[in-house]
Amino acid sequence: MKYYCSRNFSVKIDQQKDKVFLLQQITNPAIHTDILSGTIPVLLKKIPTIFGNFCCNNAQLSFKNEVKNTEVGHLFEHLILENLKLETLKKENNADYIGETTWNWNLEKIGTYNITIFSPTKNKDIFYKACMKSIAILEEIYNYNSIPLAGAEINPRPAETATCTRLETQVLPYFYLRLLS
Ligand SMILES: [Zn+2]
Repeated sequence: MKYYCSRNFSVKIDQQKDKVFLLQQITNPAIHTDILSGTIPVLLKKIPTIFGNFCCNNAQLSFKNEVKNTEVGHLFEHLILENLKLETLKKENNADYIGETTWNWNLEKIGTYNITIFSPTKNKDIFYKACMKSIAILEEIYNYNSIPLAGAEINPRPAETATCTRLETQVLPYFYLRLLS
């Protein structure tokens, strides 16, 4: 179990066999990307390939559109999937990863995200590297905002599940789950 904590968010990382469970708690008032104006510019600068991610979301938006107004935990999941892919491609030809982000703020504190990434134990060093890179990018997005967010409105949304598949092609079927609160 590894743990990261800053003034913006904390992350607990727990590798178990073929899955990594991450518990992310956002402590910054911004828990959605629509009020984080650095989202697009920082992603374009640091990790532009993320815009090619395959994403299953309730509105069926492409990730490029979805990311403009999505949950920070969902963006963090995509950052990990993309960094994991980029790290893996340095050594292997095949690097498809799948992840899932869920939250239920009726049961857990607002801003709590449960993220599962399907990545085997043998990848744990690569995973850790990808995770640290993702954390650094997310911190940069938070720090991009020069306007203080102290008065930002916390706006919880209904409990739901976004399941994401990072695929080079879209030929494989994907999961689409929705938990009704
Ligand atoms: Zn997604």
